[in-house]
Amino acid sequence: MQRGRRKPDWLKSRPPSGSRFTEIKERLRERDLHTVCEEANCPNMGECWSGRDGPGTATFMLMGDRCSRGCNFCDVETGGMEPLDPDEPANVADAVAEIGLDYVVLTSVDRDDLADGGSAHFAETIRAIKRRDPEILVETLIPDFGGDPEAIDRIVDAGPDVIAHNVETVERLQWPVRDRRAGYEQSLAVLDRVDRESDIHTKTSLMLGVGEYHHEVYRTLGDLREVGVDVVTFGQYLRPSRSHLDVFEYVHPDVFDVWRAVAEEEFGFLYCASGPMVRSSYKAGELFVEAMLREGRSPEDARRHARAAGGD
Ligand code: SF4
Repeated sequence: MQRGRRKPDWLKSRPPSGSRFTEIKERLRERDLHTVCEEANCPNMGECWSGRDGPGTATFMLMGDRCSRGCNFCDVETGGMEPLDPDEPANVADAVAEIGLDYVVLTSVDRDDLADGGSAHFAETIRAIKRRDPEILVETLIPDFGGDPEAIDRIVDAGPDVIAHNVETVERLQWPVRDRRAGYEQSLAVLDRVDRESDIHTKTSLMLGVGEYHHEVYRTLGDLREVGVDVVTFGQYLRPSRSHLDVFEYVHPDVFDVWRAVAEEEFGFLYCASGPMVRSSYKAGELFVEAMLREGRSPEDARRHARAAGGD
């Protein structure tokens, strides 16, 4: 454990580079599309986009780059949301095909300003991608849509391969980490509804280093398994700017390894990607899902494959 301000060596990352990276960036700008990778200045961008062992992954951010909420850990701008771009679903589907991704992650800002929270627009984007190529695996990282079950069902009915929704941290720290409109029980209810209404794999992510105690993380893993969550990721919280939440501690990589073992061996999660640089849509998770869904491998075999190929 490392308190204080100086970033430890294990958090040093190389800036993204390479021709593939530049090419993807150009394609995205041409179509005025946003990615979480860029918005959050993700340290793994170069690796994910260039796809060390395959076509690569990118996380598209739908419904603009301004959010109706203001979580204290997040670098996305709050307020001043634009009307939805009706061409965005087709544009994303075109970009995915052009870039040649076979695994795409879709996420979005929260749009509490829209009656359906943007769920119909989100669902149409899933359908547009699948219409272009039914073979593409689509993972969705959805907002809580204010807990509206109909909005969640719209996403389920669009047929993505994975539905993720992040609880972000333990119950005690929901505020001040997340916007007051978010909540632990509400997020568990979103994941629970997907599990009850479908066979779609569910996934969630927690940041470590915001002041959580180990017994709280342990309890959270139990709550997540109770609502049928299959995949969980752990990553280090990194402060985007001085106006954001302080880093309480830099958690040692060994601790991340312990949580992976606890999650998989004690709680029976199908897969846990855990490491200081792991982000919710980090490659390792995708490799696991691909191995299972596309190749029909058993969870154990898919885990071995994911770790050997590109794992965390
Ligand atoms: S809901 Fe919170 S975490 Fe999500 S984009 Fe908005 S501010 Fe960021």
